[in-house]
Amino acid sequence: TTKSGSSMKEGIALASRFYHHLLMHTEQGREAYEYARHREVSEEALRRFQIGFAPREREALSLLLKNRDFDLREMEQADLLQIPEDGHSPFDRFSNRLIFPIWDQNGKVIAFGGRALDEQSAKYLNTRETPVFKKNEVLYGYHLARAAIRKQNFAVLFEGYMDVVSAWMAGVENGVATLGTSLTSGQANLIQRLSNHVTICYDGDAAGQKAAIKNAETLEENGCQVKIAPMPANKDPDDYIREEGPSAFMTNMIESAQSVISFKMSAYRKEKNLKREGDRQAYIEWVLEELTTVRSPVEREFYLKQLADEFSVSMEALKQEQYRIYQRVR
Ligand code: ATP
Ligand code: MN
Ligand code: MN
Ligand code: MN
Repeated sequence: TTKSGSSMKEGIALASRFYHHLLMHTEQGREAYEYARHREVSEEALRRFQIGFAPREREALSLLLKNRDFDLREMEQADLLQIPEDGHSPFDRFSNRLIFPIWDQNGKVIAFGGRALDEQSAKYLNTRETPVFKKNEVLYGYHLARAAIRKQNFAVLFEGYMDVVSAWMAGVENGVATLGTSLTSGQANLIQRLSNHVTICYDGDAAGQKAAIKNAETLEENGCQVKIAPMPANKDPDDYIREEGPSAFMTNMIESAQSVISFKMSAYRKEKNLKREGDRQAYIEWVLEELTTVRSPVEREFYLKQLADEFSVSMEALKQEQYRIYQRVR
């Protein structure tokens, strides 16, 4: 094994070019190409994101790497192929999947995400942890979005590859994705180095919305100011863009992203009936408690005023109540 992982990365780069070529220019890749185009991924996006196809036969990449004299043990460590114990031929890790290369900060391919072309097999298969791929330290699309994040002074954070790709086609050049819903401090820091403004645009399902709040906290702990896009419950960003169009996405999601506290307030309100006195009281107390975590006095005052207006209570009463809660939570 090499310390720098450079020959490992060469093998991965070759795999990436091979997969992309198969998708774009061969009969073998035709079904996957049709699949991508059916999902409205443009030629230009296929090229920019170097999307590819891993063929059904599980020896195509292994043979190529062997012919090019790559150390197959090392390629196994890179999780490109597996070598059976019993002396059988090596076989490719990815088979019959649409392939999304995953890059490091310098734009070197270090891993792949493979999407099934049908709904039968596991939807996504990703490269496992390897010497060059630590999932928790990588943001998908980071090197492609870096300049735009600096220039626009904010990043948009998505869950999945397809969300980044669709959003790019809709004009969002500053989009990156966690590979799934969790976000580490290290990943937050990658963004924070470029800009301390982040708009989280996660899936509208319960898992996505819960993760949005959790990741907002991680980003805030790392010095970012966060907004959350109000994604409808049954959609993700890719669905939204295809169904509602790019300009609706910009207006209703990116530009309408809410502060974390108002996002939490809307979520809470969806579960309660504020016409009921008990729920109303509980809601007011919950908001006051949440406000103890808001650092900006101006922002706190703003939400207090909003509560006062909505429920016709005096600012004095709210402040007294808040003081009481503050004593308790401290
Ligand atoms: P699609 O639109 O193709 O159905 P998606 O991007 O909406 O896919 P989600 O299920 O929302 O997929 O998952 C978001 C991201 O989480 C994926 O892009 C992928 O990076 C990651 N992911 C999802 N399922 C898995 C899995 N089983 N293994 C590894 N990563 C996964
Ligand atoms: Mn999801
Ligand atoms: Mn999704
Ligand atoms: Mn999706």
